[in-house]
Amino acid sequence: MSLASLTQFIHQAPDFEAVWQFPELQRLTNLRLPDAVTSVNEQVLRADASSMWLRWYLAGLSSPQRWTLDKSASEAAIYVEAISRAGSLFPNESANDKEAFAKIVARVLMQEVHRRRGTARTAPTRLIKQNLIAAATPPRCWMCGYAFRSDAISNFLGANKPPVSLVLPKIVDLFRPRGLIERDLQIEVDHIIPVAGGGGAGSNFALACGWCNSHKGARLSIYDTGVDPKPAAQGFVFSGTTLHELPRMFWTIRLLTVRQKCEHVGGCTATTQNHEMFVALRDLRGSPNPSNLGVYCAAHDPHVSERFVDESRARRIWGN
Ligand SMILES: [Zn+2]
Ligand SMILES: [Zn+2]
Repeated sequence: MSLASLTQFIHQAPDFEAVWQFPELQRLTNLRLPDAVTSVNEQVLRADASSMWLRWYLAGLSSPQRWTLDKSASEAAIYVEAISRAGSLFPNESANDKEAFAKIVARVLMQEVHRRRGTARTAPTRLIKQNLIAAATPPRCWMCGYAFRSDAISNFLGANKPPVSLVLPKIVDLFRPRGLIERDLQIEVDHIIPVAGGGGAGSNFALACGWCNSHKGARLSIYDTGVDPKPAAQGFVFSGTTLHELPRMFWTIRLLTVRQKCEHVGGCTATTQNHEMFVALRDLRGSPNPSNLGVYCAAHDPHVSERFVDESRARRIWGN
């Protein structure tokens, strides 16, 4: 798409406030977003929108929250309800097709019930912990590639009794302020539920730093957090530009986990399996949102010379 057609699109698009008027909403629905608008992080932005939409659809068929609170809930019980919904929504479809539909709906909703209850989570044994630590040298956070410190590893494996307190670093990454609290530095086990085939084998375990794990929380999509970047508690000068916004911590985690590798234009082989990765603004004049954030290794990080700051400065800017 040419620049002229992008300009034309911006002209045609309604004012953002106009989405409250139905004809304007219809007009916007019919406009196809130009490639230039969708080019950055398109995959995750589209995939997460689709999965959020599907989650709403499935929950709209049979409320997972109702099943979560219902002690008698089972996949079979959800199936009965899903079959009934299929009967009224698709009256002309074959019984076989309705059964197949209800079966997969029940399976996915039951997974969601387990997720909400937290019941699918089995605690890792000491052996599993040892194997996870031994699987890579050095062991790293699966989300950001951070190499765990030896004191954190000893605590994790139970070698220190009682666990030693992890000394907080004096210098932290301004855009990912890991180390302002002790949990940030500790090793945690993240449960990655296998998607294909609906699981069944239970959870996959992966090591995560406390920073990533706590800010990931139970969120599933890049839209599960605020739409605008986080306002900085205090404006700050960075590479000569005054910034007033910070990237949402969950955006950083989501982009790191879907990319897992450096986006340097000249090509780079660094991945989160062998390097710590950083999220940087593609251009400091723009907002730190998913259309202006990229994933880089330390060698290609455009912010490398300035992003590590005194922890007290990071606290002031983040407001904690
Ligand atoms: Zn991490
Ligand atoms: Zn790189």
